[in-house]
Amino acid sequence: MKAMARSKRTEERTWLGQVTDVALQQAMRDADRAYQNYFASLRGKRKGRRIGAPRFKSRKDHQDSFRITGRSNFAVRQVSKQRGQVKLPRIGWVHFALSRALPADPSSLTVIREPDGRHYVSFVVEAPARMVPAPVHQTAGIDLGLNHLAVIAHDDGTSSTIENPRHLKKKLRMLATAQKELARREKGSANRKKSRIKVARLHRQVRETRLDHHHKLARKVVDENQVIGLETLSIAGMARTRLAKSIHDAGWGILVRLIEEKAAEAGRTVARADRAFPSTRMCSACGALGEKKPLNVRSWSCACGATHDRDVNAAMNLRNVAAGQAETQNDCGGPTSAAPVPAGTGEAVTTPAAA
Ligand SMILES: [Zn+2]
Repeated sequence: MKAMARSKRTEERTWLGQVTDVALQQAMRDADRAYQNYFASLRGKRKGRRIGAPRFKSRKDHQDSFRITGRSNFAVRQVSKQRGQVKLPRIGWVHFALSRALPADPSSLTVIREPDGRHYVSFVVEAPARMVPAPVHQTAGIDLGLNHLAVIAHDDGTSSTIENPRHLKKKLRMLATAQKELARREKGSANRKKSRIKVARLHRQVRETRLDHHHKLARKVVDENQVIGLETLSIAGMARTRLAKSIHDAGWGILVRLIEEKAAEAGRTVARADRAFPSTRMCSACGALGEKKPLNVRSWSCACGATHDRDVNAAMNLRNVAAGQAETQNDCGGPTSAAPVPAGTGEAVTTPAAA
């Protein structure tokens, strides 16, 4: 840390002296870890995706945060049901709105300033394991779509369609308008700053609205079903196609993650269909494989006489995977596989690998 102490004395870095050493030291440790991960990745000693070099972040960026670890460096107390206080080095006690009571003493905290000027504090807490609820007997299959957020198929042959919440759509429209306005404003002007804050606020509202909705949906699905069939989407791959915007808007990745987290907590199982699993073109009634279905084909009939809504049929097939009953008709192996498979385009229907 000596280099930093020296650095602080140079004129262009005197601002480092304005903040607590604890935050600076943590930033140094984080940077060190980032470089270690990067070098380990370069040498092939780190599993998973290639990791890029740490990127420089300006202190003038609009999203700021600092982390404090070590119980001796901060203090936290609850002052009422909905209010807490946190003692930060160099700053002192700060009030905050408590979203829920802390289940135990936190081991670290992060203070975040959002682009719209709001401050948040989040704590890392070791929580006691929750009781695993009694098993249930239902299974479900979930098809994530563009027209609807999701279609859920149930054991009794019925399905429910989950729309994106209307207030989310409204916020998204408002965000689009605000972004256009921001693009027209002159760089460095006061109006541009106002526009920027407006866009940032809408971004946050969209994110919070979506997260809240997804949490509730994931909770319901996990509470009601023992095994949940999901397709394996290559969201990173799909994001490069023109479908990218809708996919990000739908927030599929977040929903899938929430379902997996809650399922793990509740002792429920998520059955992931293989990337090559033909959820769209397989008939959920007889298991026959139909033609590849372009995105504009909303419904189709099978030779067996069954007529299918595209999304409901896909959800039914994933329900069959969940129930361990899917008849596999493709050459690429079984319908369920927990092992990650490289590359693939899911249902983007832009490559022959698609359903
Ligand atoms: Zn059929």
